[in-house]
Amino acid sequence: MTAILSNLQATREAIIQATRNAQREANAVSLLAVSKTFSAQAVREAYQAGQCAFGENYVQEALDKMALLQDLPLVWHFIGPIQSNKTRLIAENFAWVHGVDRLKIAQRLSEQRPVYLPPLNICLQVNVSGEASKSGIAPEAVLTLAHEVATLPNLRLRGLMAIPAPALAGEIQPAPFVKMRQLLQALNQQDMALDTLSMGMSHDFPVAIQEGATMVRVGTAIFGSRTSGEHT
Ligand SMILES: *Cc1c(COP(=O)(O)O)cnc(C)c1O
Repeated sequence: MTAILSNLQATREAIIQATRNAQREANAVSLLAVSKTFSAQAVREAYQAGQCAFGENYVQEALDKMALLQDLPLVWHFIGPIQSNKTRLIAENFAWVHGVDRLKIAQRLSEQRPVYLPPLNICLQVNVSGEASKSGIAPEAVLTLAHEVATLPNLRLRGLMAIPAPALAGEIQPAPFVKMRQLLQALNQQDMALDTLSMGMSHDFPVAIQEGATMVRVGTAIFGSRTSGEHT
């Protein structure tokens, strides 16, 4: 058994366990495998182990992998920071974008989404821990941006995404994940019919699932640690 296969199995089991502990429906949480800095061959191995959805942070790196993996029915998610000069490539090549935090970027993605593709699935990134250096909109600004993005023709607003600040010591705190769930509920009370809470990474996904994550973005626990090749 390869490391990727056994890591994937262990991650799936941990997701099932956390879902069960939270008394949520068995299929309530989906797994996004974050393959940034790892090779196309590693992605192929994960696919052979049953994984179809992959997350990438860097456009050019992702396009290089997509070219090598065209024979596979993969679903690509862009989860990195979005530069406005990259929106066209993102709109043309990805199925999902998780890091939208400005109307201008959403407008460009909508305008540049090719008509022959289904609407681009969007999550708004929320700066849930209020970190000065983090991308994402302030929680207070979510309702307004969500209503604006929901009107754009070639996008489908699916929900919210967050990367909470790392815990200072030891225990992962549930509070940011709770806040995210409440934000999604507030949107759905306004009939937005959003189904996605993209939160939880290798170190904190069980807590995120406990608090309502529907999609966890897991890299290290599947592919190993990113020792080199991390862009900035
Ligand atoms: C890298 C990354 C992940 C995966 O992080 P791990 O700790 O390796 O699981 C998830 N989400 C985003 C936005 C990332 O950039």
